[in-house]
Amino acid sequence: MSTSTPAKLARLRAFLSTKPDLEVLRIYLRKQDVGLLKDAMLVTAQRVWSANAPYHLTEIGITTYDRRQVNQGQPIIAGPHAENLLRSVWCMHLRIRPHAHIPSATGNADSFHFGATTFVSTEEAMDMLHQIWHQPLDENDLGKGSRPIIYMYFGGNDGLGKMRKTTFDFDPSNFDTTVAVLDAQHIPVQAKITRSPHAALTYLLQQFKIVAFDHENGGNTAMYSTIVAILSALRTELYSSISNPRAKAGQTGQSSSKSAQSVMQWLMERPTPPAPFGIVTYCSRCGSGAHLFTECPNADLGCSRCEKSSHVWRHNNANTHIEGLCVFRS
Ligand SMILES: [Zn+2]
Ligand SMILES: [Zn+2]
Repeated sequence: MSTSTPAKLARLRAFLSTKPDLEVLRIYLRKQDVGLLKDAMLVTAQRVWSANAPYHLTEIGITTYDRRQVNQGQPIIAGPHAENLLRSVWCMHLRIRPHAHIPSATGNADSFHFGATTFVSTEEAMDMLHQIWHQPLDENDLGKGSRPIIYMYFGGNDGLGKMRKTTFDFDPSNFDTTVAVLDAQHIPVQAKITRSPHAALTYLLQQFKIVAFDHENGGNTAMYSTIVAILSALRTELYSSISNPRAKAGQTGQSSSKSAQSVMQWLMERPTPPAPFGIVTYCSRCGSGAHLFTECPNADLGCSRCEKSSHVWRHNNANTHIEGLCVFRS
């Protein structure tokens, strides 16, 4: 195994910056002999904030794909709808514990379908992201430097993250280890799945005959974005056949044996480990780690500060938390 240095990472980043997002993903997933890039991890992040100002980060969805873990880094047959690659995508859903009782912008923080949600403190979330972006190339020899990271997001999520940096100071596009920054919304355009640079995630999934469930949950968004990016990047390989030379997505070519929806169903049903930080049982009303909000024996408790608030949303939300967990001083 070679070494990774800041200069090598910078060179790799400069090289990849000359390529379209689609090409970067294709090189990473499918090309042999890619040098340091074979040690890279593909990480998709999706941040979700509260519905109302002042904004608080409520959820983070993260998927990771580690090329090294799949056939020792050598390209494999992708299988129907890339199932052989998608099976190695690990999806995590974090909810920020102190903000778990605040309505999230998307309203479905409870509906994560690709694994287990963990409740974490803001510090734990930051720690975990830091660890993902700073992984040793060789666990047994830290002198060999850090693994490269390909950072992916969907549409405006990264820009919003930069704008709301004061609420959660996480901007991976500038990290030393980030060798490429990909927008999963652009990849389908480059793959000629759509002409619209602003196509919605659900629309893009439909092009692959996938019906999305609760796509706005941060964890589901991260996973669906990764799926759209990978299926788009491998479109020709996955769908082309003599009867379908233009590789229109469907049940053709390498993907003829099953439907995309059945692969999605399998991805949702397979056991997936939760994130290694935080707790899976947490009650956002009373702060207990012994039961969930829906099982809370203290349903009569609420927050008198929010009860008296002139903001309608806070007043309506007063019953979701005790005063001790309120994020507002008055
Ligand atoms: Zn409770
Ligand atoms: Zn309150």
